[in-house]
Amino acid sequence: MTVRLLESTITASGPLGKRGQKRQERPKIEKNAGEGDQFAMNDSDSANATDHQIERVVIVGGGTAGWMAGAVLSRFLNNGRRQIHLVESDAIGTIGVGEATIPPILGFNALLDLDENEFLRETQGTIKLGIEFVNWGRPGDRYIHPFGSYGQDLHGIPFHQLWLREHGLGNPGPIADYCMSATAAANGRFGRPSRDSRPPLAEMLYAFHFDASLYARYLRTRAERQGLHRHEGRIVQVHRDGESGDVTAVELESGERIAGDLFIDCSGFRALLIGETLGVGYEDWSHWLPVDRAIPVPTTNIASPDPFTRATAHTAGWQWRIPLQHRTGNGHVYCSEFMGDEEAERILMANLEGEPFADRRVIRFTTGRRKQSWSHNVVCLGLSSGFLEPLESTSIHLVQNGIQRLLALFPDRKISPLERDEYNRGMKDLYEDIRDFIILHYKATQRDDTPFWRHVRDMAIPETLERKIGLWKLHGRVFREGAELFGTVSWIAVMLGQNIWPDHHDPIVDTLDEVKVAQAMADMRRRYREAAVALPTQEAFLRAAGAWAAGDVRPQAAAR
Ligand SMILES: Cc1cc2nc3c(=O)[nH]c(=O)nc-3n(C[C@H](O)[C@H](O)[C@H](O)COP(=O)(O)OP(=O)(O)OC[C@H]3O[C@@H](n4cnc5c(N)ncnc54)[C@H](O)[C@@H]3O)c2cc1C
Repeated sequence: MTVRLLESTITASGPLGKRGQKRQERPKIEKNAGEGDQFAMNDSDSANATDHQIERVVIVGGGTAGWMAGAVLSRFLNNGRRQIHLVESDAIGTIGVGEATIPPILGFNALLDLDENEFLRETQGTIKLGIEFVNWGRPGDRYIHPFGSYGQDLHGIPFHQLWLREHGLGNPGPIADYCMSATAAANGRFGRPSRDSRPPLAEMLYAFHFDASLYARYLRTRAERQGLHRHEGRIVQVHRDGESGDVTAVELESGERIAGDLFIDCSGFRALLIGETLGVGYEDWSHWLPVDRAIPVPTTNIASPDPFTRATAHTAGWQWRIPLQHRTGNGHVYCSEFMGDEEAERILMANLEGEPFADRRVIRFTTGRRKQSWSHNVVCLGLSSGFLEPLESTSIHLVQNGIQRLLALFPDRKISPLERDEYNRGMKDLYEDIRDFIILHYKATQRDDTPFWRHVRDMAIPETLERKIGLWKLHGRVFREGAELFGTVSWIAVMLGQNIWPDHHDPIVDTLDEVKVAQAMADMRRRYREAAVALPTQEAFLRAAGAWAAGDVRPQAAAR
């Protein structure tokens, strides 16, 4: 059995591919001839297994990262001979936030063969078509960073270049008017594209919002059904091999010892194995991403949920709003150097739409990444591997990517440094690409109303990001490098949305007839609008699809 890691993007095309364009890629499993629907190794694989194979994988932690890993590894690696164990502590609990995702999660769901309607129902989930940013460029500004693509290229010339010229000549409207996901979001609507869908509906690209604790519970049920062994209890000691330094077992308060060949550290910010035990250091990026605290609070819904996340900038940070079926997730992310906890809470409470119904707590974090994601026989996933603040909802994707990368490089018991280094290189690149994209949101501001915004506007930024902004400013060009997660649409959305305009459009556009291009663009814009308003509201869609959880709990607070 070969598990192939395919790169995924949040903006290339619809999940089923734009007609005539490359399909949105999903993780693919190549089955050996004769394999059944369950891809787990069969008896003959097991019989061929040799002593050098890893037989026990131990996942430490049962938050989102732990259960995502548990669900996938128990599906693909559990062959009766190889066992997957997971340890979690009810007393310690989980972080319990992390509710917005990006489109590659469609690939993760496919990997687990999840029924999308069941998944939405079980997690009180909703559709996410992008993020609406409010007050970022200047107070009062509003734009959407949508999933999917902008318009149709003409004669191989990228659509945004046509739009840039047209913007200089006339009034083509916002670039978001040329994006299926953005127009559907603006109208509060959704339709799931099928393989038979035609453009522009075929260009709809989406992800999900969900309740993090329900998601973990849902994955746990699947993982246990697939044979995962769960252990409850606090780990009080970690045992290591005297010679190699590898981790050999974790010991619980009860005295139970859980031995393993490979350990997955999903223990959250504590980083029990990778940090505390192996001493792998942390690369601190707070000089570029200085927000370091968050106060989450759920509220009752006051209206049918919008199919997008909202990120509203405040005076020293920003506030998220994530609408679910049964409640709305909110939180204020801020920089403690510029704002105290009480003021942050006051701003949050003053900007809520529904009734808050849970105690407030302050979560502290340092943006950055673990210097190695894989050290000895320990691979870290989730918060133990780093944290990039939730502005672009990338943490769950980092977990997903780490799991898929691990499957693609799954080692023997004697771990090859080549495979380990490859894993570490890939994770480092992914973290750094996301880092640059998030920094862009702070750097590309014209706000000078508070010391925080003046600080981020004037701060030095990584050279990689300088280069990207510089190229854009000249002729509006954006190049996707390697396997970057965020593609051209994402960069264009944020730069235009935050008033970073190129000096000139690409001169190649001037080879096209102005009148014909204007007409083609007007037709495109009309088609996107017509397609969007013909769709049901997202709530009507979810209900009709059987994806709405039984028992409408709105507008009361759901019991948690
Ligand atoms: C404010 C905020 C907002 C976020 N928003 C988003 C978002 O919108 N989208 C997104 O993708 N991500 C988001 N994230 C990130 C997301 O929450 C995390 O990536 C995700 O929840 C993974 O957490 P985790 O499983 O690594 O850690 P945790 O949830 O902290 O789980 C750690 C686990 O380890 C166990 N454990 C720890 N120590 C021990 C021990 N000694 N013995 C036994 N068990 C132990 C705990 O019991 C727990 O089960 C957000 C994060 C924060 C802080």
